[in-house]
Amino acid sequence: MAQEKHFFQSEAAELLKMMIHSVYSNKEIFLRELISNASDALDKRRIEVLSSDEYGEYEARIRIERDKEKRTITILDNGIGMNREEIVNYIGTIAKSGTKEFLAAAKQDASEKDSFSTQEMLIGQFGVGFYSAFMVSDKVELVSRRLGATEAWKFESTGDGSYTLEEATLPECGTSVKLYLREPGEEEKDYTDEWALRDIIKKYSDFIAYPIVMNCAKWKDKTETIEDEVINSQKAIWCKTEGEVTEDEYREFYRHLSHDWQEPLTRIAINAEGSVNFRGLLFIPQQAPFDLFMTDRGGGISLYIKRVFIMNDCKDLIPEYLRFVKGVVDSEDLPLNISREILQEDQRVRVMRRSTLRKLFSSLRKMLENEREKYEKFWAAFGRAFKEGIVHDRENAQTILELSLFRSTGDDEWTTLDAYKSRMKPGQEGIYYLLGRDVSTLKDSPKLESFSDKGYEVLLLTDPVDEVIMTQTHEYGETKLFDVGSGAVQAATEEERKETSKKLEKFEADFAPLKEKIMKSLDGVLSDVRLSARMKSSPACLVSDESTMTLQMEQLMRAMGQTVPPSKRILELNPEHVVIQRLMGLSRTDDAKVEDFAAVLYDQALILDGGVIADPGRFARRLADIMNLALETDKT
Ligand code: ADP
Repeated sequence: MAQEKHFFQSEAAELLKMMIHSVYSNKEIFLRELISNASDALDKRRIEVLSSDEYGEYEARIRIERDKEKRTITILDNGIGMNREEIVNYIGTIAKSGTKEFLAAAKQDASEKDSFSTQEMLIGQFGVGFYSAFMVSDKVELVSRRLGATEAWKFESTGDGSYTLEEATLPECGTSVKLYLREPGEEEKDYTDEWALRDIIKKYSDFIAYPIVMNCAKWKDKTETIEDEVINSQKAIWCKTEGEVTEDEYREFYRHLSHDWQEPLTRIAINAEGSVNFRGLLFIPQQAPFDLFMTDRGGGISLYIKRVFIMNDCKDLIPEYLRFVKGVVDSEDLPLNISREILQEDQRVRVMRRSTLRKLFSSLRKMLENEREKYEKFWAAFGRAFKEGIVHDRENAQTILELSLFRSTGDDEWTTLDAYKSRMKPGQEGIYYLLGRDVSTLKDSPKLESFSDKGYEVLLLTDPVDEVIMTQTHEYGETKLFDVGSGAVQAATEEERKETSKKLEKFEADFAPLKEKIMKSLDGVLSDVRLSARMKSSPACLVSDESTMTLQMEQLMRAMGQTVPPSKRILELNPEHVVIQRLMGLSRTDDAKVEDFAAVLYDQALILDGGVIADPGRFARRLADIMNLALETDKT
């Protein structure tokens, strides 16, 4: 069959170009990437074989063949392989969204810098490990045969923007990647050299669960023979004690698992003995992946049984709100032929999940207590996802609350609920919070005034999930939680409330005509207008009653495409404020002005809540009229 010429998708070609012209000195990582791909392909073959009885026995292995004379090295695996379409889609294309934008930003970096290893970042971000082969080769030849297929396909490219495809043969399923190596530059290793390769494999791929076999020179009776030798120890890193593993080995293992170019934030080892024996090695990354909040995103825990890989993304071992945790869990006690369906039902898996969770919580607690800065980094990256557990995992909701950090009016730092409680003032009824869009808007909210006046700290909650969390969380331990944005919540004792109502009663007669006019002017928008002692220096604010949806929830629902009619809120006025006092006076006489003023009061209260006013044009006109009035008064 004839050779077909194809072009790399433009983003792919761009990335490839960056790889080829890379000034990155650590080029040896190409081998790590190709071995990692081979290992993934063997994992995938195992999964497919397990779910079908069509395929027979095979001996999984990765082979490295080197040819010093021809200056080639070939990485072969008998994994799942690729068919023609898969080669085009996986090798010729990069399907990640945002690639274009990212490339534009990274391009500058890549041409200038070596230190922060832009190449490593590209590899991690885009899953372009295969392209790293072009850092050391003039030409790459990939031949692959998909499991279940009889024909193979050969891909060939010099990385110049195009590649060729033609039919080929391969004795069994799998992939072979042959690199036509460039002459090594100064200080560069010769990648056909046995000892250089041994070093690289040991350094980056020792833990790979499949044997990595290489043709090695052996001396027998003074003559050299070439024999196959398994280079990696294949020792599951999670079965070793901490002292037996170097930091570099952990790092490489994490990189293999996560494709993350950064080091992990923390590592958590599990060694559980009891009704189910299992070991685990978990990592929390430093940064959240861009798709952390996309639906149906996979989790990060791989299941092994007796050190044999069973599956990626084992959802039964870890709840979804911990989807950012990467790692492996390996049990001695589960049968090797376990299926996803059985896993869900299995009592032992539930035990594993529970103790994995317990271990994660205790590690996080330790970090919170002893490594505050690191914990805040964790929280900034993953707090939003982690908090979902308060809603979805009621059994552990209190523990997650205990581990949660919040912004507050106290200072600019994060606080835990326990720390908040330790600062509560005598007589303070509970933990107060205010929901909104961002901390700086919330800090200016008139609703905080009477709380600040009493020295009560208020939590400022700005994540969309916070509202859902709070509607389900009424207390923390014995301490009740109160929404400061709710009309019923006040910073006052019973005694003080009585006093306040008495004080407010005095204004009622003056207030009645104003109330009537405001209700008329804002017809259908408000559920009530009332006087309140909530504010100290502001004239007005909007509060909700128990049954109304908050403004944030309304906005969230609309953002999700739902039609939500605006809820009616209560406009609270501060009778001590000079504007309100004057309005009360004016409302006996001048209707038109009161109407305008009432509308402006309402709109500005809405803005203070982070809301959007219905008619900004009218608001601006009214404001101009008011300014005009003020200036005229000044003149006289
Ligand atoms: P990544 O491995 O990070 O996804 P690569 O560019 O290295 O990115 O590979 C792209 C895809 O090509 C892989 O996800 C895999 O589907 C396929 N692939 C690469 N190497 C192999 C291989 N040896 N066997 C089977 N498929 C492979």
